[in-house]
Amino acid sequence: MAFPEAFLEELTARNDIVDVVGSYVRLSKKSGANYFGLCPFHNERTPSFSVNPSEQFYYCFGCGKGGGVINFIMEIENLPYPDAVRHLAQRAGMQVPEDSYDPNAKQRSRLLEANKAAARWFYEQLALPSGKRCTDYMRERAISPQIARRPVSRRFPRHLMFHQVPRRTAPHRAPPGCRRP
Ligand code: ZN
Repeated sequence: MAFPEAFLEELTARNDIVDVVGSYVRLSKKSGANYFGLCPFHNERTPSFSVNPSEQFYYCFGCGKGGGVINFIMEIENLPYPDAVRHLAQRAGMQVPEDSYDPNAKQRSRLLEANKAAARWFYEQLALPSGKRCTDYMRERAISPQIARRPVSRRFPRHLMFHQVPRRTAPHRAPPGCRRP
């Protein structure tokens, strides 16, 4: 899922990294522009965990962890990205544009995978001796193997799709054993 860019910009602007990290780590201003504290991600006695307020990122010189405010919440709260975003939105009193969250995305991607697997299977059948009638038919209709390999939706102009050609006027009919799935 993707959140709108403008929303993420406002989210990070309203969750200053020094404030956010500061609620987990005791930070002290030590050198230059950076704040330092004991790293929450590894055991240490002298602070090597730094927070840069002007660039809004954290970095640990001890364990090498670093990133922006969303990344920090993902790490410290052990949350996936969308939940870290929601966590920070709640902290800043912001409404999450959940419209952009598509609950069917997972199902759709599974269907697409199944579709691709099926397409692969059919394509492989063309290479077998039993697929010869189909390849002959394709050659007759000038359908190249490259076109046959494309996703079904892009394979043919809509008006040429077999199932949309009225039977009476169909100039060609797929021979038995060479029907579209
Ligand atoms: Zn560390």
